[in-house]
Amino acid sequence: MQRAAQRIVEKLRAHGHEAFFAGGWVRDFLLRRKPKDIDIATSAHPEEVIRLFPKSLAIGAQFGVIQVLMYGHPYEVATFRSDNPYFDGRRPSSVEFSGPEQDAYRRDFTINGLFYDPLADRLIDYVHGKADIQNRIIRTIGIPKDRFTEDKLRMMRAIRFACSLSFEIVPETWEAIRLLSPEILQISWERIRDELLKILIGPSPARGLDLLHESGILVHILPEIAPGQSQTELLNNAKTALGALRNPSAVVALSVLLQGTEKSGGERARLICRRLRMSNEEAARIVDLITSQGSFSHAKDLRGADLRRLLNKPDIHDHLELHRANCISIRGGLDNYWFCLNKLNEFASSPVAEPFIGGEDLIKMGYSPGPIFKEILRTVEDLQLEGAIQTREEAIEHVRTFFPLTNKFNL
Ligand code: ATP
Ligand code: MG
Repeated sequence: MQRAAQRIVEKLRAHGHEAFFAGGWVRDFLLRRKPKDIDIATSAHPEEVIRLFPKSLAIGAQFGVIQVLMYGHPYEVATFRSDNPYFDGRRPSSVEFSGPEQDAYRRDFTINGLFYDPLADRLIDYVHGKADIQNRIIRTIGIPKDRFTEDKLRMMRAIRFACSLSFEIVPETWEAIRLLSPEILQISWERIRDELLKILIGPSPARGLDLLHESGILVHILPEIAPGQSQTELLNNAKTALGALRNPSAVVALSVLLQGTEKSGGERARLICRRLRMSNEEAARIVDLITSQGSFSHAKDLRGADLRRLLNKPDIHDHLELHRANCISIRGGLDNYWFCLNKLNEFASSPVAEPFIGGEDLIKMGYSPGPIFKEILRTVEDLQLEGAIQTREEAIEHVRTFFPLTNKFNL
């Protein structure tokens, strides 16, 4: 990856332009963290970048961002720019191409404002980013109030970086977030959701929830769970449970957060998912995860067939992970989780066959289609799942005995 990005820099240089690795990559490089992707900042204008790299896509041309393919991998090459005034709290009205210094100043935090010259192995630091990385602090570039007023999403980004890097937010930056937190709703729900989910599935979700709460952001984006007088327990449980999740997906993490918001947790969760613009499919999975937890809690009391059905869910491992987190945070012991996991393994070693009989068989046996079909099939399936019926012949025998073909059943 670095080889390819270096090739891009070399070629831009060869044509007389300045070019550096920029932003997140430099931060992660100094922290010796695995970087996600390499973004390149250059003095070359977009048309020139496209001319030099025919395999490129003008993904954000109005901001000067071109995606260049190198050795089959995409890299963002962005022209140095400064942002013109922000009017909507989200995006600059337009941008102007500029030099590297101005490009550093338009970035959000000092830790994200560094450049690196890979050919000379040299750091270019206009914003004292290196010192802040060494001191593990998050500080806006420029006056915090101004920078958050320009783009409200930066408030959530500050919290996300604090959590993902284990950094502290400096007081002046923090105070500005607290002051401007009500304005977070000027940002689209999609972008709020993306930041929220990154915080929830990151390495310190509990701290993330604390910071979201203390900053005043949480009450605006998730009033249902932001603690008033009575709700601190809800948030505390969520924090413990989130901390207990291992490698969670966004769906599982959000289920932890949205469960228990009310007695009818499922309905409330569905509304919140809609607000956060989750897809219908994700919302349905979250609601099912939340509403099924009761059954997992009572797993030991379920009859065999119901337990088998419960553990046969396609996303059973998500359900069990949620249950595990809840056992740790709310129930205070994992024995119920182990019970379910052992049962799951037991069932996996004796998989259930296809149902022995179906509606067609009942018709052949002389039953008339109707509500009774469902009852008969369900009864037979229960007995099959529990092992009381072992063959198709036994199933037919059972139907003949317990649902005799009298007027009552074949009406
Ligand atoms: P990650 O590892 O999460 O990708 P990143 O620092 O690369 O972190 P990106 O969102 O990919 O973050 O953005 C790349 C760079 O663009 C940032 O490092 C920062 O310099 C700049 N940037 C991104 N979003 C903003 C913003 N809202 N305001 C100002 N600068 C931003
Ligand atoms: Mg990035």
